[in-house]
Amino acid sequence: PRILAIETSCDETAASVVEGGKNVISTVVASQMDIHRRFGGVVPEVASRHHVENMTTVIEETLVSADMDYTDLDAVAVTAGPGLVGALLVGVNTAKALAYAHNLPLLPIHHIAGHIHAAELVADMQYPALALVVSGGHTSLIYLPEEGAYETIGETRDDAVGEAYDKVARTLKLPYPGGPEIDRLAAEGEVTIDFPRAWLESGSYDFSFSGLKSSVLNAVHNTQQRGDTVIPENVAASFQASVVDVLVERAQRAVSEYEVKQLIVTGGVAANRTLREAMKNSFPSGGNVDLIIPPLSLCTDNAAMIGAAANIAWKKGEWAGYDLNGEPGLALG
Ligand code: ATP
Ligand code: MG
Ligand code: FE
Repeated sequence: PRILAIETSCDETAASVVEGGKNVISTVVASQMDIHRRFGGVVPEVASRHHVENMTTVIEETLVSADMDYTDLDAVAVTAGPGLVGALLVGVNTAKALAYAHNLPLLPIHHIAGHIHAAELVADMQYPALALVVSGGHTSLIYLPEEGAYETIGETRDDAVGEAYDKVARTLKLPYPGGPEIDRLAAEGEVTIDFPRAWLESGSYDFSFSGLKSSVLNAVHNTQQRGDTVIPENVAASFQASVVDVLVERAQRAVSEYEVKQLIVTGGVAANRTLREAMKNSFPSGGNVDLIIPPLSLCTDNAAMIGAAANIAWKKGEWAGYDLNGEPGLALG
């Protein structure tokens, strides 16, 4: 099927036409990053308003660049959650209106299923698979025994990893979003500080990043207190080393315990160069697990990934009624 997918869960207004869950015919992302940068983070009310302003144009651009109109489509898919409620509602209501007006099935998609199935746009997914989702709101290890089935085996007990990046960046007075800034600085720095790694109880697949975040904050303050200069490049490199160590260890352990065929690393933080490198070294090609890390543009929020996940919802006949609502705390699976 040819599916028009819509994503508005956070601060990206995005639409895409995807065929058969694999072929991206067109994809448009209008980021509000420059707007939220002024506030140092996403302001929900501001995000909703900009989604309203951008939504129609983004969909029009998507259809024009696909050279299609509604008669060429088979369904409309939309991120139904999780995310900011006001932001989600813009996408959900737009999708409902389009589905009704053009008599197309409406497919509600989980945002994290979208991040996972971004993999489908660059490789054929094979099951059982494991997904490490590292984003602004999530740090989760998800086991996929078969297509469309999701078991969360570990998740963060406090901050998401992207959140930790953004907070550490703030401490270093870097602009929002902090992830790309830390990524850039770390490349120029050295690991000079031994920040803690939260291993938690043995056998746990959960994560915790708030202790690390506080350690970075303390280290920066203590350095300043002593009258020494903070070298942001080294702080960034040291922070990142701690994050990457934990993510790699969890992934390695889960891959061997669950004997999966594929490991998918996805979500905004999967754009991180050090993490990508470390994962590639730990799971070399030709090894017993096939590592898939979608390209940067498919790791951060976009609608093509929603179109990929929508293909599964289509096959399973998971259509929604016009009473579909945006659900900020929607559970996966
Ligand atoms: P969720 O997907 O959990 O609902 P979200 O959609 O806000 O949250 P994404 O857009 O997937 O999250 O990812 C955004 C996060 O990714 C931000 O925290 C940002 O700092 C981080 N990020 C983006 N690029 C990089 C990078 N190169 N290195 C590290 N972090 C990055
Ligand atoms: Mg975003
Ligand atoms: Fe996301």
